[in-house]
Amino acid sequence: KSSAGVYSLLPLGLRVLNKINGIIRKEMDAIGGEELLMPSLIEKKYWQKSNRWATDVIYRTGRNLEDGKVHDFEYGLGWTHEEVIAAIALNFIQSYRDLPKAAYQIQTKFRAEVRAQGGLLRGREFLMKDLYSFHTDVEDLNRYYEVVKDAYRKIFEQFSLRAIVAEASGGAFTKEYTHEFQVLNEAGEDTLHYCDQCGFAQNKEVFDEARHTNCEGAIAVGRAIEVGNIFRLGTNFSEAFGLSFTDEAGARKSVVMGSYGIGPTRIMGTLVEEFHDDRGIIWPATVSPFRVHLIELPSPNGTAHVLAQEVYEALQKEGVEVLYDDRSKVSAGEKFADADLLGITYRAVIGDKNAPKIELKRRDSDDIELLSASALLKAVRL
Ligand code: ATP
Ligand code: MG
Repeated sequence: KSSAGVYSLLPLGLRVLNKINGIIRKEMDAIGGEELLMPSLIEKKYWQKSNRWATDVIYRTGRNLEDGKVHDFEYGLGWTHEEVIAAIALNFIQSYRDLPKAAYQIQTKFRAEVRAQGGLLRGREFLMKDLYSFHTDVEDLNRYYEVVKDAYRKIFEQFSLRAIVAEASGGAFTKEYTHEFQVLNEAGEDTLHYCDQCGFAQNKEVFDEARHTNCEGAIAVGRAIEVGNIFRLGTNFSEAFGLSFTDEAGARKSVVMGSYGIGPTRIMGTLVEEFHDDRGIIWPATVSPFRVHLIELPSPNGTAHVLAQEVYEALQKEGVEVLYDDRSKVSAGEKFADADLLGITYRAVIGDKNAPKIELKRRDSDDIELLSASALLKAVRL
């Protein structure tokens, strides 16, 4: 923690975050999203066009230089990027033939969160994947909206998260519902009303019991973490930025937009909340910082040391990511405690007592197997 809501990611945490991003990236690419990277410094004039300057985190100076001149500038630190992407899209969308389009980025966002709490769950500086889509009409937006919903389902499945798709209010953008992806968890700040039988779910802020129809199931209430959400923006931003296209009949029309967010750092925090025991983290295998945590126990006769080195090299040769704990002055107990704390999927222990056999255990199970080196290689392969 650097300050409230502001964090550094150390090497193991960064590996997890990169894996989270990799899964998101693959699914965004699969639905035609083109990755780009927009700036964090966004000039005031952009926010003024959409009337959102007042909500920004401001980066400014009014510096007097030696020559007596004042150098003034004022930017908003990007907390969302509808304005910037709409301005970019002006260069690429002229005709219905240029549509639909979708572009996304994975980028640091800045928000003046009053209550920055729950560690990575709510940062003042955090990572967001934001996807924006552009369409000729609402029908095409609605089609793509469902495509994104499915992609989000696939993403959260790969994190072993059960995300409930809940209706929420559209705020300033739309009178229709937006959809939030919510993970039931006591650490969450949202309150969800949901039915396990028919899948009906609404955020407390819009909850209307009368909307739960044709179902005998009871409505449950629970705390939840919003890990993603999807919005129909309509023509709000395209009108503000003059983003229009010529349709087949030659008429000029405003482009219809959608925007879709996921919080990779918030997901990282959610995974820790969801998957841990009293000894530490239990990362889902898909995001574990390494596949194997290789522990070499103190080795008075050197057998374990030689074997551990061989196994380490063999794993690397096979492309299996391995963290090798070869610290010589650390006790077995401390090494085991560290392995549990870090939560890497497999723990492989090599000691003089069992060599040439190796003890293999999954972090999420209590079963221990004694394996030869070649059997170990097979067991941990993806
Ligand atoms: P919340 O209601 O939790 O403040 P939001 O509605 O402001 O979220 P969006 O602006 O739609 O969220 O952002 C898209 C996604 O970015 C969210 O679904 C969430 O996963 C993530 N996110 C938003 N704010 C934060 C934050 N302060 N820290 C970490 N992740 C965040
Ligand atoms: Mg917010």
